[in-house]
Amino acid sequence: MQTPDAPLMLSVSGARGIVGKTMTPEVAAAYGGAFGSFLKATTRKARPRVVVGLDGRISGPPLAAAAIGGLTATGCDVIDIGVAMTPTVGVMIGHHKAEGGLTVTASHNPIQWNGIKCLDGDGLAPPPAIAKEIVDRFKERRIDWCAPTATGRVEQDGSAARVHVDRVLGNVDVAAIRAKKFTVVLDSVNGSGCVGGRMLLEELSCRVEHIFGEPTGVFGHTPEPLVENLVDLANATRNAKGAACGFAQDPDADRLAIVDETSRFIGEECTLVLAALRMLQRTGGGALAANLSTSRMIDDVAARFAGSRVIRTAVGEANVVAGLRPANGILGGEGNGGVIFPPVCWVRDSLSAMALVLELLAHEGKPLSQLVAALPRYAMVKRKMELAAVGGMAAVAPALAKVKVAFAKERVSDVDGVRVDFADGWVHLRASNTEPIMRVIAEAATEARADELCEVCRRAAGV
Ligand code: MG
Repeated sequence: MQTPDAPLMLSVSGARGIVGKTMTPEVAAAYGGAFGSFLKATTRKARPRVVVGLDGRISGPPLAAAAIGGLTATGCDVIDIGVAMTPTVGVMIGHHKAEGGLTVTASHNPIQWNGIKCLDGDGLAPPPAIAKEIVDRFKERRIDWCAPTATGRVEQDGSAARVHVDRVLGNVDVAAIRAKKFTVVLDSVNGSGCVGGRMLLEELSCRVEHIFGEPTGVFGHTPEPLVENLVDLANATRNAKGAACGFAQDPDADRLAIVDETSRFIGEECTLVLAALRMLQRTGGGALAANLSTSRMIDDVAARFAGSRVIRTAVGEANVVAGLRPANGILGGEGNGGVIFPPVCWVRDSLSAMALVLELLAHEGKPLSQLVAALPRYAMVKRKMELAAVGGMAAVAPALAKVKVAFAKERVSDVDGVRVDFADGWVHLRASNTEPIMRVIAEAATEARADELCEVCRRAAGV
């Protein structure tokens, strides 16, 4: 995905491209116009209302302005909440009873990227069929520009972070967390989580040591919250006297990674498991949802609570929500540090994740390292296969077909890419929605075995 000539990626996750090449104000205006036209055609509202936010990366304002232009020129009214976390856009759609939302973000991608995501009137990432309808409208430029007298209006709302934080505070045990007066190190990567992340922790009576806490949009480090990018967080947590943990948000603040009080990165897979553990403790059991690439730790933790179950879904936030919502699930998410807490919003939310982890710490009264040590542990290997040299995205289907044939004797699922379950581990191969790569994830008792499973599948795929 480092290639500067990457095409505009269009998928269920929205549009993503290289700023100034494939992601331009022209693209953003057309995308806003396509989404506005879609809302006009499907909501039967004369003036659909759309909440618009941006993740604070430095290329965002002209793209957001263009997208707002597209929306208002198709007759939508816009509530402009400015720099906002992606989950905040979800919260504000409900707050304003709007018909949809649009956020300008490329999530954890490096700074040369930007993108556009749409949300529906429930603050949900639209299901695949709807997402495709919006993308098709954009590709075919089926945009219904409105009459001059019907142009939408723009209203600014500067209260979004406050509203989001209050929603989280209303759904966690504030008193228990405040009583602990935790010291927490927060790395907001100078992204959209700076204001809300700090506000939440201060409301929870935490002493906050904030690194990369200026919302300049110039990322303080490579933005994906992986161990190699969180060296500063680990150092700051080690140096902060008595820190309970360190939290890292990605630029649009939907994902959360954690380091424990000894400054050890606990792995992004643990975020969802810790949040789920707290919710299971609170409720005594319930339905959880996680995608097929998520660690089996969550299954083991759920098994400790009678009547609990884990619904496994295809990768992608919309798919997880589609599993979680009809089951009245208590929590859902993805192994990349994305936690979906239904009382707050249907979007992965780093604020909810932080609050639930702190609630767990408060109630357990033990250091985070001990709580993590008590979790079942597996080794997970995540690899990316670059497809550029083997025919790009066109190489995906034949590669997956080869894997299915090679492991026909094992348990194989093709709900989403191909997942092969071996007796002592599993491997999941799938094309990325947003980058010209294939992701391979393997989990087993040891790293060597997970590596081996990965390699066996890579060879079978011929990539
Ligand atoms: Mg993100």
